[in-house]
Amino acid sequence: IMDDCLFCKIIANEIPSSKVYEDDELFAFKDLYPKADVHILVIPKLHIESLDGLTSDHQNLIAKMMLKLPELARDQGLKDGFRTIINTGPGGGQEVGHLHMHILGGKNLPGFK
Ligand code: AMP
Ligand code: ZN
Repeated sequence: IMDDCLFCKIIANEIPSSKVYEDDELFAFKDLYPKADVHILVIPKLHIESLDGLTSDHQNLIAKMMLKLPELARDQGLKDGFRTIINTGPGGGQEVGHLHMHILGGKNLPGFK
């Protein structure tokens, strides 16, 4: 848990969120400013800054996150596919410094800019 991290506070329930999934290592919730009809964020409970903060210690955790994505997408009713986005660092447009995978889909899915 990082004191000044928005997503750590969401995990700790200090800031409200619309949770869609939780287990001992992962947490998933609805994006507050959805860019499509379905927009979910999947995060590790462990505070990792970004893909740039990964080490080989995180191998199993990352695999677990990736494997969870299609399951969560199906739970959201996305039967014919979904988009996954991971922004890394300022150059990648990352705004929250706690690793997160976006799941987007359904109606109003925007094109890439
Ligand atoms: P990124 O730009 O990849 O760092 O994505 C951060 C995402 O967090 C954006 O899509 C925001 O809409 C979303 N976001 C920011 N604050 C909150 C919040 N309090 N609850 C849920 N999602 C949030
Ligand atoms: Zn954090």
